Amino acid sequence: MSKTWYPVIDYSQCKECGACINKCKHGVYEQRKNRPVVVNPEGCVHGCRGCQNLCPSGAIQYVGDTDGNNSCSCGCSGCC
Ligand code: SF4
Ligand code: SF4
Repeated sequence: MSKTWYPVIDYSQCKECGACINKCKHGVYEQRKNRPVVVNPEGCVHGCRGCQNLCPSGAIQYVGDTDGNNSCSCGCSGCC
């Protein structure tokens, strides 16, 4: 896979609130039972932290997040 930025859920921290699933407009997540599952990492916008910013438990990290200075390149309204 060439994708260099996408979320990874720490299920030991996840409270299954659904905020990340509802937030993402790019089809990255699917709800399975009450859990968010990353089904489309290719859809994630490099540098976006929209779901991470909403997560109440700090359960979302990103593959590719090495310096913490990435900024969203998406340009859509309402994702971040
Ligand atoms: S970081 Fe942005 S684009 Fe990626 S899954 Fe979260 S809300 Fe969707
Ligand atoms: S926002 Fe965080 S706590 Fe809520 S479902 Fe997503 S990963 Fe779990």
